[in-house]
Amino acid sequence: MSEIKVMNYIDGEFCEASGGQRIEDIGPVDGKIIATIPRSGADDVLRAVQSAKSAQKNWSALTLEERADWLHKIADKMQENIEEIARLESLDTGKPWDVALNVDASRSVNNFRFFADFSKNIDDLKFEMDDASNYVLRKPLGLVGLISPWNLPLYLLSWKIAPALLMGNAIIAKPSELTPLTAWYLCTILDKVGLPAGLVNILHGYGPEVGQAIVENQSIQGISFTGGTQTGKIVAATAAPMFKKLSLELGGKNATIVTDDIDIEFVAKEVARASFLNSGQICLCGSRILVQSSIYENFKEALIKAVNDFKIGPVISKEHKEKVLSYIELAQQEGGKILTGGDISESEGFYINPTLVEGLAIDSRCATEEIFGPVATLHSFDEDADAIDFANITDYGLAGSVWCRDESRATEIAEQIESGMVWINTWLHRDLRVPFGGVKASGVGREGGMWSVGFFSEAINICVKH
Ligand code: NDP
Repeated sequence: MSEIKVMNYIDGEFCEASGGQRIEDIGPVDGKIIATIPRSGADDVLRAVQSAKSAQKNWSALTLEERADWLHKIADKMQENIEEIARLESLDTGKPWDVALNVDASRSVNNFRFFADFSKNIDDLKFEMDDASNYVLRKPLGLVGLISPWNLPLYLLSWKIAPALLMGNAIIAKPSELTPLTAWYLCTILDKVGLPAGLVNILHGYGPEVGQAIVENQSIQGISFTGGTQTGKIVAATAAPMFKKLSLELGGKNATIVTDDIDIEFVAKEVARASFLNSGQICLCGSRILVQSSIYENFKEALIKAVNDFKIGPVISKEHKEKVLSYIELAQQEGGKILTGGDISESEGFYINPTLVEGLAIDSRCATEEIFGPVATLHSFDEDADAIDFANITDYGLAGSVWCRDESRATEIAEQIESGMVWINTWLHRDLRVPFGGVKASGVGREGGMWSVGFFSEAINICVKH
């Protein structure tokens, strides 16, 4: 198969980076080059900013309904090409076809559809006083920088692009250089539907080069970033002195709490999915499984079986595979016992079998640091209060799940977990209207429904004295 030549998309044109250099994109299934991408830098960001400025003026003059119509047009064209989106996502990330189609591609289409429909829920805000009326304008920020990771490439990028466009902004985006294909393919769709040039500019390349140049650019008024906590710190430190609006969706180390009243077989399967979907490379995956001591041994047995039956793809890169394997080694040094997995398959690709570790202290490095791969640790607890303490021991606070038949007991536990989102008797069950985001080291701000609308606009109050 010949390599795909990914191009930047600036001012409605497919182009090389100004420096002319290219980066290889390696497929995780066999470690072979699947594409090359432009190595963009600050000059490319400047060009994109120029084109975005003029495009944004016209775009923000459209009504919300007109912009929503454009989002529907994009969603329609994506839907026509959904299998190609899934094919490219699967090629780039190595994830199984059904996950690429039913999770990544479907949700990417739905992100545009959802925000187009959601525009109907954006009411005019008015506050009457005895002698005056206030009304609130939702003005666009202007130019926004969108930076996204490799684990759910188009899913996460479109989750930012759709509301940013809806609220009248123009976009300078940078996908992860490890997974550029679907962002580039989206540009071909934008081109086909005739979205005005300069509204969406997608620049490929390395984070510390083109990503940093986007964050540093004075004309870009808001940055929506999804990625690791360490990178989030750099983004925040760069953007904060310029008073840019910032949304940071960062790492997680989520607890899965299993109480003694559950259906062991059923919950074991659900917990295996929550730990290992997308090879554990979802920020929401439950990588610390806390099981009530009275059912620990029985649950462990059922979980090992469920994990062994759960089919996963490779991890994203050679470097990431080495990182994950180093944590598996560390787990053993920290006194952990590998219950299943841990071995490397013979394939040339970046495969690691789903790995379960028990016997680690709850505050050990493997039980508290984000591994972001197919590794979960198993711990036991006696009282619900212990489970809550164990869940809250990490610096992170993104998500969690509680598996407990007694809903009031489950709710009591859920409300005490320090994280932005908790699922009860389910996982990754998403209503796109609800707030999505983390606390503590997992981020600042929320995405979803009104929260995305709020981030991608400035609320301006006009007070009229009668
Ligand atoms: P990184 O933080 O390494 O990268 C995220 C993005 O930032 C990439 O596009 C990267 O480019 C770019 N980047 C790197 N350095 C800079 C910089 N100095 N300025 C601007 N941009 C930069 O994360 P990963 O791609 O490794 O993704 C995995 C992480 O993302 C995990 O920690 C995971 O938990 C988190 N995540 C969080 C989610 C959430 O909603 N909270 C959802 C999904 C993932 P490049 O690839 O070239 O380095």
